[in-house]
Amino acid sequence: MPDYDAIIVGGGPAGTSAAISLSQAGARVLLLEEKRMPRGKLCGEFITPECFPTLERLGVMGRTLAAGAQKITRVSLIASSGKCVQTHLSGTSNDAPCAISLSRARFDQILFGRAAEAGAECVESAAVKQCLFDGNRPRGVEAMLLRAGKRARFLAPLIIDASGRNSRLTIGQRERVAGRRGSRLYALKAHLKGVEALDNEVELFFFPQGYGGLARVEDDLINLCFIVDERTLKSAGGDPPRVIEASLMNNRLARERLRGAEVVGKWYSAGPLAFGKRRLASNGIIAIGDASGMIDPFTGTGIQIALRTGEMAAESILEAMGASREAQVCATRFSAPQPNGVDPRECSPSTLDSVMASYARRYRSEFSNRMKVAGLLRIAAFSPIAAGVVGGILARSPRLASFVLRATRSGNGARGESE
Ligand SMILES: Cc1cc2nc3c(=O)[nH]c(=O)nc-3n(C[C@H](O)[C@H](O)[C@H](O)COP(=O)(O)OP(=O)(O)OC[C@H]3O[C@@H](n4cnc5c(N)ncnc54)[C@H](O)[C@@H]3O)c2cc1C
Repeated sequence: MPDYDAIIVGGGPAGTSAAISLSQAGARVLLLEEKRMPRGKLCGEFITPECFPTLERLGVMGRTLAAGAQKITRVSLIASSGKCVQTHLSGTSNDAPCAISLSRARFDQILFGRAAEAGAECVESAAVKQCLFDGNRPRGVEAMLLRAGKRARFLAPLIIDASGRNSRLTIGQRERVAGRRGSRLYALKAHLKGVEALDNEVELFFFPQGYGGLARVEDDLINLCFIVDERTLKSAGGDPPRVIEASLMNNRLARERLRGAEVVGKWYSAGPLAFGKRRLASNGIIAIGDASGMIDPFTGTGIQIALRTGEMAAESILEAMGASREAQVCATRFSAPQPNGVDPRECSPSTLDSVMASYARRYRSEFSNRMKVAGLLRIAAFSPIAAGVVGGILARSPRLASFVLRATRSGNGARGESE
């Protein structure tokens, strides 16, 4: 008899979204996270308005705002020359007239706490080492419990991989490392104080070696997150202040903004970064969030895709199990044997197939176009020179900038408003 209905690996936005959605419906969920929460995360920390409906359904919208989330009403695209175009978010989203920004340490902690409150068993410092199989069907995971210093096995018929872009469960070694040596992309992030006048906006800077953004988060701090090519990173010895001097400071406005800035806390780094869609399942393991593919950070929509794919996987599971969203009904369905003698906690191969098919359908209808648009922009992201050119063009063309921002968030370019 399995210990749980589903085991979710990774406690970021994708994993917690799936955990909350399944637990709210009465499923027995185990959520394993290798880090201790709260944990910081390399991210632009920009939460688009398209996240809000999911945050409401998960029961965390109010808490996110109360935790000090900053309102973002504009995105400014700034070319190396300092030439700037501002796009009002009210013209780019149907969900809300503004976005928000909040540190990932706080945001992910809220989601993790909510998952536990919804009934999921949430275990921190538990690093999943491998998936266990029964023939070719997953039947559980083996994890290292880091605090106790011992290995443990947990059984469930459904395994969800939400362990992010470096997943070892569903992503091969080759796929994790993208690009030619020397031209790969890396990212750096830190919180700053003393940044010159930054209002309710995200500033996205383009420079010949990459691009990056500034956004206000809680406690009067500014999040700086940027991407550079490998050559620049290496020639600066990987030292963040020298990397900034050799890249970001080539943007005139960024140089002004960062004149008196001081780092608070530590630097985070990541890379080489691999972008694009991967696969929604591998060996019967369902992949969500970055584990299923990584949209270019330029779009600022990775969190939304993570939250939604978590929900979609949960919806597909509940649908396949014949359960509905109402917790009462689902709790009964998940906990009691059915009249036909089938234990709903057993997941037959055909049930698993229908979960996968339904999840793939949902994913295609919501994200396929968007991934394609982002894929076109990736041509720019992989070539810092092209990124500079594209950034320069966008920064001269308000209409185009607004169109692109909308298209990368909805998959459809549409009306935009700009200055
Ligand atoms: C430079 C950059 C800037 C970005 N800026 C933005 C932005 O401004 N807005 C936005 O929406 N998106 C942004 N993104 C994308 C966003 O950060 C991701 O899309 C998002 O974090 C994906 O969430 P996730 O839950 O899939 O994965 P993650 O947030 O990566 O969470 C995965 C979790 O799994 C845990 N884990 C990993 N392996 C194991 C294991 N073996 N066992 C147990 N736990 C494990 C990790 O510790 C982690 O907590 C950015 C990305 C980059 C690279």
